[in-house]
Amino acid sequence: MTNLQDIAEEVRSCTKCALHKGRINAVPGEGTGNASIMFIGEGPGFYEDREGRPFVGPAGKFLEQLLTSINIKRTEVYIANMVKCRPINNRDPLPAEIQECSPYLDRQIEIVNPKLVVTLGRHALSKFFPGESIMRARGKPRKLSDDRIIYPILHPAAALHRQDLRATIETDFLTIPELLKNHSSEPVTTDESPKQLDLF
Ligand code: URA
Ligand code: SF4
Repeated sequence: MTNLQDIAEEVRSCTKCALHKGRINAVPGEGTGNASIMFIGEGPGFYEDREGRPFVGPAGKFLEQLLTSINIKRTEVYIANMVKCRPINNRDPLPAEIQECSPYLDRQIEIVNPKLVVTLGRHALSKFFPGESIMRARGKPRKLSDDRIIYPILHPAAALHRQDLRATIETDFLTIPELLKNHSSEPVTTDESPKQLDLF
């Protein structure tokens, strides 16, 4: 039985895609293994690459402020990324790189088994809802299965320096506690397609 530590070890020695060549440290992800919420970002940036930890730069500070606004500690959630190694100059990860890396994230999701997955930005959105526009999809929680909600929001790095987007991500964040609550009393549906939850 593999666990989160095993996955982290594999990630640190992974050479499956070209991103391994430019990394200082791989960034497997971190948090508690029985978190109710998992955040999925895009990929490590400059600071994350240096530390080997997700969201430790300016976007991470902002994410922590957002978590504080809903009374949740960073250590209570799980934080992962679409790709575990930093794309040089913070370019977008390529589809092939995302695909090579996705089994690690899939296994992390399976092990943590979060009730709520909060996708940060368009790359993580496209894992669950390919081809959708982030500006349209954001702020709308959808049931992926009977026991999981996907909640797409903006990426904190994109929202950090733009007052309008910052207000949007701050407002979208405030919905998170309600999603956790509603989820436990949500009736089971048998729909096959992810359904938008009409909670708000
Ligand atoms: N941006 C991301 O998408 N992930 C990180 O870990 C840091 C910044
Ligand atoms: Fe491996 Fe993912 Fe890093 Fe590519 S980005 S080398 S697939 S861990």
